[in-house]
Amino acid sequence: MSSDDRHLGMGASITRRDFLNGMAIGVGGAMAAGWLPGDIDALLAQGIAPYPPALTGLRGSHVGSFEVLHQLRDGAFWKAAGTPENTGEDYDLVVVGAGISGLTAAHYFKKARPDARILVLDNHDDFGGHARRNEYTHNGRTYIGYGGTQSIDSPAPYSRVAKDLITELGIDVTRYQKVLDAGLYKSLGLGPSMFFDKETFGADRLVVGDPRDDAFQAAAPISDAVRRDLKRLLTERMDPMPGLSSAEKKARLARMSYTDFVTTQLKLDAGVMKIFQTRTHGLFGAGVDVVPAQDAFALGLPGFAGMGLDAAPGPGQNFDSIHSEEAGHYYFHFPDGNASVARLLVRRLVPGAIPGSTIDDVVTARADYGKLDAAGLAVRIRLSSSVMRVRHIGPAGGDQRVEVAYVQRASGRQGLETSGPQVLKTVHARSVVLACWHSVIPALCPELPAAQKKALDYAIKVPLVYTNVFIRQWTAFQKLGVQRVSMPGMWHTSVNLDFPVSIGNYTHPKDPNEPIVLHLSKSACKPGLPIRDQHRAGRVELLTTSFETIERSIRDSLGRALGGGGFDPARDILGITVNRWPHGYAYQYNSLADDFWVTGGEQPCVVARQKFGRIAIANADAAAYAYTDAAIDHGHRAVTELLAQPGSEK
Ligand SMILES: Cc1cc2nc3c(=O)[nH]c(=O)nc-3n(C[C@H](O)[C@H](O)[C@H](O)COP(=O)(O)OP(=O)(O)OC[C@H]3O[C@@H](n4cnc5c(N)ncnc54)[C@H](O)[C@@H]3O)c2cc1C
Repeated sequence: MSSDDRHLGMGASITRRDFLNGMAIGVGGAMAAGWLPGDIDALLAQGIAPYPPALTGLRGSHVGSFEVLHQLRDGAFWKAAGTPENTGEDYDLVVVGAGISGLTAAHYFKKARPDARILVLDNHDDFGGHARRNEYTHNGRTYIGYGGTQSIDSPAPYSRVAKDLITELGIDVTRYQKVLDAGLYKSLGLGPSMFFDKETFGADRLVVGDPRDDAFQAAAPISDAVRRDLKRLLTERMDPMPGLSSAEKKARLARMSYTDFVTTQLKLDAGVMKIFQTRTHGLFGAGVDVVPAQDAFALGLPGFAGMGLDAAPGPGQNFDSIHSEEAGHYYFHFPDGNASVARLLVRRLVPGAIPGSTIDDVVTARADYGKLDAAGLAVRIRLSSSVMRVRHIGPAGGDQRVEVAYVQRASGRQGLETSGPQVLKTVHARSVVLACWHSVIPALCPELPAAQKKALDYAIKVPLVYTNVFIRQWTAFQKLGVQRVSMPGMWHTSVNLDFPVSIGNYTHPKDPNEPIVLHLSKSACKPGLPIRDQHRAGRVELLTTSFETIERSIRDSLGRALGGGGFDPARDILGITVNRWPHGYAYQYNSLADDFWVTGGEQPCVVARQKFGRIAIANADAAAYAYTDAAIDHGHRAVTELLAQPGSEK
C-alpha cells in the first residue's frame, strides 16, 4: 500500500468492517462475543442472514443481483440453463420487482381481492427498488441514511391515486415542517460552497458561498477572462436573438444545449461552464452540455435575463423544468428517504415483517427479513430472485396461467458474493405485473409484439450513485462554515450533511462533535456524447469501477475539500455505503434527444406499457417520469387493467 493510501485510511479494511457491520446487528450477541470475519460462513451455516440495510461497501445494484440478468440480455442464459424446478406454487398475482411500483400493485390487488395469494419477486437482497435504506450503528446508536429515492417530491402534482396512497399509509406531508429542524445548519453558520480541484481548475481551493457573490468570484481559482465572463453571465442582460418572439426564441433554445447557448450564443469563455457543468446532475443525471437551454432557462440558470422570455412552458420542455406551485408544497423526507414508503407498504402486505403501526415507529422499526417469504402467507416477498422468463401457458381463458421462471440465490449469502448456489425455479399465476425496468422486459417476455419490445427498449435508465459516508464528527464543516460542497471536478460531484429530520424516536445529530451521515452523489455521465450514449457509457463505468477505487476517491475528495477544517479521512470515516444504480432514474424525454417530444409524436412509454394477455406493465418507466408518484400511478393502473379483464376473478 502506498503512503498516500495509508494517509487516506485505505489501510482500515473497510470491506471487512462492512460485513461485520451488516452482520453485527443481525447477530448482536455473537458479535459481542468476538466473532471474526472468517466466522461469517459459520453464521450463515447456522441460518443467520445479514441484515441488508446495515451492509456497507458496494450496495444499490449489489454484486450478485445482476449477473444472471446480464447473461439473459446477452443471450447466454437459456443455452446453459437446465430445466427449471417447478415449485408447484400457484398465485393469483405474481409481481416482478419489489420497488414502490410493484409493492403498490400488490397493495391494490390485495385491497380488491383480500383473499388473493400474491408473490413479489425481486433480484436484490432488499426490497424497495431504488427506495433503499442504509444504517450504521455506533456506540449503541443507529444512524440512518437514504441510499436511493430521496423524498416524496415531484415536479408535477401527485395524482389523486398517489396522494390517496400516501394518506392511506399514514403520511401527512404537512407535518414535514415539524420534523425538519430547518434552522439547524443556518444557526451554526453553515452554507453552500464549491471545491475547485487542481486537476480541473489548477489549484485545490474550497470557496465558501455562492458563485453569485462577489467574494466567491474573487476567491475562485479561475482566470481573469473566466472571472469577467462569469460576472457577465450572472449580471448582464444579453439577448443573442433580437427580433424574435419569446416562443421563437424558446423553440431555438429547445434545440441547443445550455453549454452551446453560453459559449456560442452569448460567446462567453468556455471556462465558465466548468463551474456550471454539474448543476443539472441531480435532475437529469447529466451535465449542462446535454441539457436543453430552454430547460436551463426554466430552471433558473443564468444568462437569459435580457431575452424577454415568458414563463409558460414551451414545447419540448422536460417535466423537471416545469414549475408547479402545488407540487412544490407536497414534500416529505424520511431519514431513509422513500424507503419508508416501501416499508409502510411491506408492513401492510406482510403482517409482522415490520413491527409497529405509525409513521413515527416505522423509522426505527427493524424489518424481519426472515418473515417476508414465509410459507402460508397471503402475500410473500421473495428477494434475491431474478426473473428470467414470463410466458403464457395454455389457451386464453379461465384456466390459462402465466409461468414465471426465476433464478434464486441461496438465502443468507445475498450481497456477499456472486457465486453462491443458484436455483432455477418456476411459479404460476393467473396474472402478472411486470414492475421491473422496462429495458429488461423484452428479454423476459419474448412473446411480446416487436413494436412493444422496441418501445420498452427505449427506456434506457439514468446511471447514478448515492453514497453515504458515516463520519465520526462534523466539526470540520462547522469550522469551514459549510453544509454542502459542490465538487464539479471530482468523482462524486457533491457532498451534503444529512437532512436534519427527527421522527419518532429517531433524532438527527445536532452537535458537530457527534457522528453524522454525509450524502455524496455522482451522475455517471460522459460529456461530449449525446445524452442517451452518456447514460450507456455511465452504466458501464459503474459496473466496472471497484469499491476500492471509489473508496479511495471518496477519501481523497473529502480530505482535500475539508482538510482545511481538520477533516482527516483516516480518522473520521467510520463507514461507507456506495449505492450504485447503473439503472437509476427513469429516462425522461427531452428536446435535444427526442424529436417526438417536441413535435407531439407517439411516446415510446405509451406503447411499452400496454397490457399483453394476463401480463400488465408498471414501473416509473411506464410514464418516462423518474418519480415515486409515477411508480405508484402505474402500479395502480397495471392492477386496474388486470382486474378489469374477464376471468381475472377466481
Ligand atoms: C438515486 C435515485 C434517487 C431518486 N430520488 C427520487 C426522489 O427523491 N423522489 C422521487 O419521487 N423519485 C426518486 N427517484 C426515482 C425512483 O426511481 C422512483 O421514485 C421509484 O422509486 C421507482 O420505483 P419503481 O418501482 O418504478 O422502480 P424501481 O425502484 O427501480 O423497482 C424495480 C425493481 O424491479 C427489479 N427488477 C428488475 N428486473 C428484475 C427481474 N428480472 N427480476 C426481478 N426483479 C427485477 C429491480 O431490481 C428493482 O428492484 C430516484 C431514483 C434514484 C435511482
